[in-house]
Amino acid sequence: MSVNVTGLRVLVTAGASGIGRAIATTFLKQGARVHICDLSTETLAAAASELPGLGTSVTDVADPVQVDRLFDEANAHLGGLDVLVNNAGIAGPTGPVETLDIAAWDRTMAVNINSQFYCARRAVPLLKAAGGGLIVNLSSVAGLFGYPLRAPYAASKWAVIGFTKTLAMELGDFGIRVNAICPGPVEGPRIDGVIRARAEAQGEAFAVTRERYLRQNSLHTFIQAQDIADQMLYLCSPAGRKVSGQALAVDGNTESLRV
Ligand code: NAD
Repeated sequence: MSVNVTGLRVLVTAGASGIGRAIATTFLKQGARVHICDLSTETLAAAASELPGLGTSVTDVADPVQVDRLFDEANAHLGGLDVLVNNAGIAGPTGPVETLDIAAWDRTMAVNINSQFYCARRAVPLLKAAGGGLIVNLSSVAGLFGYPLRAPYAASKWAVIGFTKTLAMELGDFGIRVNAICPGPVEGPRIDGVIRARAEAQGEAFAVTRERYLRQNSLHTFIQAQDIADQMLYLCSPAGRKVSGQALAVDGNTESLRV
C-alpha cells in the first residue's frame, strides 16, 4: 500500500519490534519523519541502525516521568507532532481470575491504558499547535469480546475503546481524529507465547491450541504486522480523513474468543 505521508511527524510507542516496528518502518519508507520509544535498549539500537533518520528514546511508557522525557526528545527530533500511535501493550497474565497476581494486573493496566493517557495528555497540545492530527490507540479483538482467562488484558483493551471514543468527541473541534485499531492475533513470537500459556493453562498441546485460535475467526487466519501498518496508512490517507471515534478490527472477523 502506498500513501503520500511525506513530512508527517509520527511518534510510535514500543516501536522497536512487532507491530510498532512495522508501522515505523512503513511510515519512514513512505517519507514520514518518525520517532519511536521502547523499553529495550538493544532492539532500539538495532532499529536505529537499520532505519536511518529514525529518532529513538528508551522509555517505559507506564512511567509518566519517562513519558514526559520521551515527549521532550520526540519534539526536539520531530519539531512538533501530527500523529501519535499509542502502540505499547503487554499480554499480561493468563489464568482464572481468582489466581491472578495483583501486581501483574496493575502492570497490565499501567502499560496498556495508563500509558495511553500519559502520552495523549502530552500529545494533544502539540496536535492542536499543528492545527489538527491523528491519535491511534492499539486495542485488540480482546477489546470487543469477553476473553476467558485473560481478564486484565481484556479489561485494559476495553478501556482503550472508551478512552478513544471519548477523546474523539473532545478533540473533533480541533481537527484531531482519534481511532482504535483492534488486531486479531498477529503472527510472531508474542502470539506464540500467548498460545503456549493458554495450552499450559488448559493442559493441551501447543498445536491443538494454535488450531483453536485459527478457528476463532471466519477467515481462519492470523494477522500480519504489516496489515496493521497498512491500516495506519489508510487512516492517514485522504480515504481515512472522515474516520474518527472508531474501533477498527483487523481480524478476519472474530466470532468468539472462547479458545
Ligand atoms: P510485542 O509484544 O511484540 O512488543 C513490542 C515492543 O513493546 C517490544 O519491543 C517491547 O520491548 C515493547 N514494550 C513492552 N512494554 C513496554 C513499555 N512498558 N514501554 C515501552 N515499550 C514497551 O507487541 P506487539 O505484539 O507488536 O503488540 C503491539 C500492540 O498491539 C499492543 O498494544 C498489543 O496489545 C496489541 N495487539 C497485539 C496483538 C498480537 O497478536 N501481537 C493482537 C492484538 C493487539
